[in-house]
Amino acid sequence: MSTSTIPSGLASGKLPEERLIGALASGSGPTLIVMAGIHGNECAGLTAARRVFRRLKRGDVSVRGELVAFGGNIAAMNQGKRYIVRDLNRVWTEAQVEAVKAKEAAGGELDAEELEQIEILAEVRAAMARATGPVYLVDLHTTSAHGVPFVLFGDTLAQRAFVSTLPLPLVMGLEEQVDGVMSGYWTRHGCVTFACEGGQHDDVGSIDNLEAVILLAAEAAGLFDKGAVEETRAAHALLEARRGDLPRVMEVVSRHAIAPEDAFKMEPGFKNLDHARAEQLLARDRNGEIRAPGNGLVMLPLYQGQGDDGFFWGRAVSSARMRASEALRHLRLDRFLDLLPGVARDKADPSRFIVDRSIARIYPLGVFHMLGYRRIRSRANEMTVERQPEDRRPH
Ligand SMILES: [Zn+2]
Repeated sequence: MSTSTIPSGLASGKLPEERLIGALASGSGPTLIVMAGIHGNECAGLTAARRVFRRLKRGDVSVRGELVAFGGNIAAMNQGKRYIVRDLNRVWTEAQVEAVKAKEAAGGELDAEELEQIEILAEVRAAMARATGPVYLVDLHTTSAHGVPFVLFGDTLAQRAFVSTLPLPLVMGLEEQVDGVMSGYWTRHGCVTFACEGGQHDDVGSIDNLEAVILLAAEAAGLFDKGAVEETRAAHALLEARRGDLPRVMEVVSRHAIAPEDAFKMEPGFKNLDHARAEQLLARDRNGEIRAPGNGLVMLPLYQGQGDDGFFWGRAVSSARMRASEALRHLRLDRFLDLLPGVARDKADPSRFIVDRSIARIYPLGVFHMLGYRRIRSRANEMTVERQPEDRRPH
């Protein structure tokens, strides 16, 4: 029996999913855009958003601004799949967005995800055009493995401030590891964003987690007064409990990239985010054992399916270190980074540095991280380090 061809909504007796999940607008104020199911098999966020609308529409809370929620990959959702032709959360580089817009304008035939992307672009642009205050965007996901829910965000000061109200683990430097994620695109276009992995796909607890995340994000954005919605207290307590003994803030130090010929195999038992001791066995490949380089954190270990990321290696970030890096950034110390040997600012893109690895053999990655430069790409003798733009200039 093939289940993949039966639209999930129809199979359960419901109607197929539509783009607009809900909207609530009143007077002037901030805008919060919730995106749920950009991966079509991750539907917990849709139910979570519906619950939040039901709560806020009860009439006892005065909402300022706009809360609007959209379904992401509707076509895939209605088939119960992650995506149909391409991953809708990997197509948001500037070049890809321009290409799909040009294709549409030329009357070209769009595939399933290109159609989704064109519609999402129009909806988010329209919400930004209606906005009377700052625009926030939250992208809701779930994972195949069980684990603690966590938040990923591009490391800008505005986004740090926004996520700091959530008691979940906040992971810095993970969003920057992948090109073309949607939240990064909207950060570059004037929104304050984060993405949340809310728990396992089919766990009903993931709906509770994401409902709590939306409610706390709405409060942090300023859609209603702090404490005006009593349920935010329970939401905070729930997420705090989910975090358990994991650090509040953590950062990616390195990525263990793999290729099929490596025969990489992760040791069993690691959760999505997990502690590891120095020298602990993490994985094996054709060269032998891969052990922890120190006490730290294993992130997103690869257990199923294919991918180029075996795992990410990370560490906890103390609040003192957070404050230090914020102070450095307010001083705009990155102005002086190109005084380092082998480091030059990219003339075409001032948010990027090019590091000549033949000169800067031991490159100061920690310094770049402190200043928010977390997107690191290597090719041959050259490495580029890039950050999200700090100022919010819609364009
Ligand atoms: Zn996802």
